[in-house]
Amino acid sequence: MKNNYKNLLILSSLALISLLLIWGYSYNNIAKETNISLYEFLSKIENKEITKITLINKSNIIGETKNNRIFKTTKDPDESLTKILKDYGIASSTLLSLEIKQETGSSRDLILQIIFNLLPLILIFWIFWQIFRQTQKGASQIFTFSKSGIKVYNPNSPDKVTFKDVAGLEEAKQELMEIVEFLKNPEKFIKIGAKIPKGVLLVGPPGTGKTLLARAVSAEANVPFFYISGSEFVEMFVGVGSARVRDAFSIAKKNQPCILFIDELDAIGKARGVGIAGAHEEREQTLNQILVEMDGFEKGTKVIILGATNRPDVLDPALLRPGRFDRKIVLDLPDIKAREEILKIHLKDKKIAKLNLKQVAERTPGFSGADLANLCNEAAILAARKNKLFIEQEELLEAIEKVLLGPERKTKAYSKKEKQIAAYHEAGHAIVSHYLPHTSPVQKISIITRGRAGGYTLKTPIEERNFYFKKEFLDEMASILGGYASEKLIFNDITTGASNDLEIATDLAKQLILKFGMSEKLGPVSFTKTQKELFLEKEYSEKTAELIDEEIKNIINQSLEKALQVLEAKKDKLEKVAKVLIKKEVIEKKQFERLVAEPKGSLNI
Ligand code: ADP
Ligand code: MG
Ligand code: ZN
Repeated sequence: MKNNYKNLLILSSLALISLLLIWGYSYNNIAKETNISLYEFLSKIENKEITKITLINKSNIIGETKNNRIFKTTKDPDESLTKILKDYGIASSTLLSLEIKQETGSSRDLILQIIFNLLPLILIFWIFWQIFRQTQKGASQIFTFSKSGIKVYNPNSPDKVTFKDVAGLEEAKQELMEIVEFLKNPEKFIKIGAKIPKGVLLVGPPGTGKTLLARAVSAEANVPFFYISGSEFVEMFVGVGSARVRDAFSIAKKNQPCILFIDELDAIGKARGVGIAGAHEEREQTLNQILVEMDGFEKGTKVIILGATNRPDVLDPALLRPGRFDRKIVLDLPDIKAREEILKIHLKDKKIAKLNLKQVAERTPGFSGADLANLCNEAAILAARKNKLFIEQEELLEAIEKVLLGPERKTKAYSKKEKQIAAYHEAGHAIVSHYLPHTSPVQKISIITRGRAGGYTLKTPIEERNFYFKKEFLDEMASILGGYASEKLIFNDITTGASNDLEIATDLAKQLILKFGMSEKLGPVSFTKTQKELFLEKEYSEKTAELIDEEIKNIINQSLEKALQVLEAKKDKLEKVAKVLIKKEVIEKKQFERLVAEPKGSLNI
């Protein structure tokens, strides 16, 4: 905001200077070119003051004196100049020494003259327009709301963001739309007794559009939208962060219904008790203040707290408890279709030739929305450097490399081969999981890169399930190893993605034996200790340890065998799913079920 004022000041002084200049310039002109009557003009010729005349368009006469003064006059275009001069009785000796020029067809001059005369006006207009725009912009961007730095988005600003400017993320948009609905008509929901979420957390990798989406919500909801960012608190004096949080919540409560957006929540919400002493003290206070404020909401408070974070894993669990951020909206990296749409959005106001955006989308798996926006900009820069008038395909493809090498990227895109492997890997998980009877159903398969793993197959998390029978456990193990098995079956080779699964499977096998006592050889003995404790102290003898290791190996081998059997039996389905994955990158539950076209658990191995 300070910047805006500064700009305004600079612009106003510029305007003032220009006005002065213009005034001076026209004054000069008036002094130089004097309009006089034809008779005065003729008398000046007679007195030999004017020695040069120029006739323009048969009616305008410009006379120049020896000392470069200029006089202007006009005559009837039908009367000849010589006749006028003669009629006035100018001596022929004078006429002979007079230099006469004629300029005809000077429509160009006329236009130039008009432009020249209008120039000051245009300039003034332009400057005012700039000032106007600047002030508009000042209002459009976030502006500081209170002295402690809470900002508010103006939902009516000309450069506002709406859901239309956010490509993909359909589910997230839909969920947020519900919240918008509530804010627009809270009574309707309260009357019927609907429970409205207090806090909604946007979770997703950097650059997936969390901040963008939050801004869009503010425009859609058309309610006040207050904004603070966790990253602003980090380097503050102790107490400032929590004071600001208190301030933000009290402003929000006074302005309800409204949204309070806390961006980059992970900067404050890191689990307490971790980190360097002192540095986290401030964070802890700020975090506690947020918890206190969220708990302090009375029933029926029409304030929705929207949070955003890249790292839900480091968030203090207290933040995620019911009555706080109890609803999570996950923003995934864009799939191939969304990538194409994002490219379209970011090329909208650039000059482009006919482009094949699908090809660009195909080559950018793992790119976030921010990466793609960056890509479009890089392409424009490349095109300009080559003195092109339009961005062409060539520049877009070149820009992919640039973005890949750029320092900003946090995710990594992979090659065609890697994509193929990822597809078969994930399809393997899904197929095994689908055909075995004792596993949870597949919700979604994706091969868009995400951190360390090449993709993921979404199922109900293991920790949330209760295993009553060993066979349930073994089926689940087989589906965990389904990716590994598929890679082995199709490529006869194992990648890092698969070895990660192997670790998980080993862990699970350990639990199976030690915690649930499901090993045949070891018997139904429960070595009830948490995992951590097990690693710290060895409660059992060397011999038992060896047996445990052997049993783990047995279980893994059994499960892997099972997975391989399923995949061999259903290789056609595996191929089918993998091929669709390569093309679409994401398969939702319904589509998956249509692809396999056989009921869940129909293979009982
Ligand atoms: P995050 O807050 O998740 O880190 P941002 O919302 O700041 O990401 O996104 C950064 C930029 O990337 C946005 O300003 C926008 O230009 C672009 N972007 C990200 N996601 C999308 C999307 N889904 N559609 C259009 N543009 C996007
Ligand atoms: Mg952000
Ligand atoms: Zn896997």
